Amino acid sequence: MTSEVIETPVLIVGGGPAGLTASVLLSRHGVDSLLIDKRLDGSPLPRARGMHSRALEILRVCGVEPDLRAVELPITPGAQWRADLTSTPLREDVPSAGHTTVSPCEGLAVSQDVFEAVLRNHAHGFTCAQLRLGVLLESFRTVGDGVQATVVEQASDRRFEVRARWMIAADGARSGVRAQLRIAMNGPDDLGQQTMIAFRADLSALTGPRPRGIYFLTATGAALIWTHTDDRWVISQPGLVAADPATVVRRVLGLGDLPLDVLATSPWTAAAQSAARYAQGPVFLAGDAAHRFPPAGATGVSAAIHDVHNLAWKIAAVVHRYGGEKLLDSYATEREPVGRRNADETGAAWTRIFSGNGAPFSGRSLAQIDMGYQYTSPVIVGDGSPNTDPPGADYQQTATPGCRAPHLWLADGTSTIDLFDQRFVLLTAPPGHAWRHAAALCTGVPVDSHIMTEPQWPDLYGVAPDGAVLVRPDGHVAWRSPTTSTDPVADIRTALTTSTGRRRVPSST
Ligand SMILES: Cc1cc2nc3c(=O)[nH]c(=O)nc-3n(C[C@H](O)[C@H](O)[C@H](O)COP(=O)(O)OP(=O)(O)OC[C@H]3O[C@@H](n4cnc5c(N)ncnc54)[C@H](O)[C@@H]3O)c2cc1C
Repeated sequence: MTSEVIETPVLIVGGGPAGLTASVLLSRHGVDSLLIDKRLDGSPLPRARGMHSRALEILRVCGVEPDLRAVELPITPGAQWRADLTSTPLREDVPSAGHTTVSPCEGLAVSQDVFEAVLRNHAHGFTCAQLRLGVLLESFRTVGDGVQATVVEQASDRRFEVRARWMIAADGARSGVRAQLRIAMNGPDDLGQQTMIAFRADLSALTGPRPRGIYFLTATGAALIWTHTDDRWVISQPGLVAADPATVVRRVLGLGDLPLDVLATSPWTAAAQSAARYAQGPVFLAGDAAHRFPPAGATGVSAAIHDVHNLAWKIAAVVHRYGGEKLLDSYATEREPVGRRNADETGAAWTRIFSGNGAPFSGRSLAQIDMGYQYTSPVIVGDGSPNTDPPGADYQQTATPGCRAPHLWLADGTSTIDLFDQRFVLLTAPPGHAWRHAAALCTGVPVDSHIMTEPQWPDLYGVAPDGAVLVRPDGHVAWRSPTTSTDPVADIRTALTTSTGRRRVPSST
């Protein structure tokens, strides 16, 4: 029997990286939501130990980045190969200078449990977000154009009914929502079993105060990762570990008498899969519920954040009545190919690492995987430019429609990335003032205009100084005009109509 009925526009199932980011983004857009997670606290295991520039850009705009930087692990970026931890390094892989020229944000080393705690604090900070932890989604059905769910508060065994217009299934790799909707996963589901052992030990004599991002210990095939400043580490060891985990850790490290505490042991299976559908009616899959990547390149958390960043503003646009239902359809159209591409890339990289066949790396660069995906959908106004994301590509910033709008430092020390938040943004240089005037006449869609005075802007964005670029709230280019127009009002109105999935955007002329 259910007693309490909760009505909310958006029910978010899962309080991992995808669900928590969705909660923060929806709140920033002024959309009420209810997030439930069956756990009272976050992930008990460190799991992911980092995220890349694009996710950080999103969290920077949300004001979360400074709190994450405050708990960042002071690692030495890159990988090192040793037979075991006592051996001299066989090889090192030191990343190049980073993304500072193409992004205001470097990637970040922080364990997932710490990251989730920071994000939970931010999510709690909004009055329009309800977070109910220790609450399980028991069942749901779609009703009319919404969802009716039964949820259970596990401590009291009390049941509630939730009525929501939409549901975001951010319930992880074993998504019960996805299973109930009978949405298949495409791609290999078993690229090898691993056992993760979390332990505490002082390894500083062998790693120094700033350990490497990752150590590959070749005698056993294990990976060693520093997770917390208080001497917490994990190893991930191929296969299922039957022996005493402390003995396994000592063997892998080559330190037979190392004093250590084993904190947790968890088997996991690498998979490279993407869901056949990312949406069904009012239900959207996001994060690991939509895709499972092996940790080659560590892209799982980042992609979870990218998913909900694509979705949140679209839900907000419909709630605030400036977006049409077609806009919501574009979530699956835009994100599903990215999930498939990432699964293929990380699956190939993982197989290459573990096959040991020395095949040359032929995939997209990590920066391309992270920032170079290009959306093509009915809400993007293509301009006939070539595909910017072919196999093997390395990342080059481009304002081709569908791409992440390039980063450029502005005269006031902020980035173009900081402009893209809750509204569309029309960028133009001083000669393009007619565009600015035209945008001001288009009512009904939140559009800001920004005059770019930086001389590099036209080349970087692929337009003449009297051209214009329209950027969506998620920082992807919706439309661009290479030069001026005879009827800028009509052009912008058409661009806004298409990119909001509406039939018509009014203008005050
Ligand atoms: C061993 C390991 C190492 C990894 N290393 C990396 C890495 O280095 N880098 C990286 O980017 N990624 C890594 N990942 C992947 C990363 O952990 C995931 O991509 C990430 O957690 C996905 O976030 P999510 O929010 O989609 O799902 P999850 O973090 O799995 O969150 C799902 C949440 O849903 C909740 N839930 C599930 N069912 C219900 C229900 N019925 N009712 C209520 N709540 C429910 C769960 O309690 C959970 O909190 C690793 C994963 C593993 C297992």
